[in-house]
Amino acid sequence: MILEQFRLENKVAIVTGCSTGLGQGIAYGLAEAGADIAGVYNTTDTLETERYIKKLGRRFLSIKANLISTGPVHDIIEKTLDNFGKIDILVNNAGIIRREEVIDFTEKDWDDVMNINLKTAFFLSRGVARVYIRQKKGGKIINIASMLSFQGGIRVSSYTASKSGLMGLTRILANELAKYQINVNAIAPGYMITRNTAPLRADKIRNKEITERIPAGRWGTPDDLKGAAVFLASDASKYVNGYALAVDGGWLAR
Ligand code: NAD
Repeated sequence: MILEQFRLENKVAIVTGCSTGLGQGIAYGLAEAGADIAGVYNTTDTLETERYIKKLGRRFLSIKANLISTGPVHDIIEKTLDNFGKIDILVNNAGIIRREEVIDFTEKDWDDVMNINLKTAFFLSRGVARVYIRQKKGGKIINIASMLSFQGGIRVSSYTASKSGLMGLTRILANELAKYQINVNAIAPGYMITRNTAPLRADKIRNKEITERIPAGRWGTPDDLKGAAVFLASDASKYVNGYALAVDGGWLAR
């Protein structure tokens, strides 16, 4: 029956950037649907995320890793396997943004954003895909894209490049991995209330311009991503490959 296909009991999900914002909302959603979570964090500890997930009766493993390099990729995968014995779902959510005019954009702001948002996401996907192939049971990879996977944006050169690139990666990974029953898709959040958008929301003029352009008339919240995440992590999406599901209150349709 169809609702059964959405259930994630006995599934193990790695979620990067799980202690704040959208990653926390996604980890909560997957755990509410039944999954155990290996939560990757860097600076903000995972206590709050862990408390909520354990209260649901799910298992939680906290993994500290700085994803600015691919160094921790092997460790994240091995720790998850040691603890849970398998991996079923990977959510590449960790990401940063740097804001500056094109004319003044620095090489460091380019490299840092590209390394975390794009390079590490690729190599973590590659590592997890190798595990999926070994396990012979398929698997799910969900990349957190952006409106800037489709639009140019303003003052965010490396972010736009990384999120547009992440959409390209979503497609090639889907193409090459579909034959192993691995689904690779993206969620493209619109303008969401998290740390990432704090400067935008603090700017009264930009905040008003953005809110007025959102057909739903409000910014999104981490809770708004739960449904899309559970769908793309579940058997209900087994024939969905290489697609970006926008959760944007209608922004792209405007
Ligand atoms: P956030 O700043 O709360 O979350 C970013 C997460 O990434 C944090 O948990 C952080 O610890 C983690 N992270 C950052 N650098 C890291 C590093 N070097 N190593 C390991 N982890 C690191 O903001 P958010 O809005 O929740 O962002 C989550 C994702 O959603 C990002 O990829 C972001 O680009 C994307 N996104 C956000 C919005 C929005 O409107 N907020 C819109 C579209 C896409």
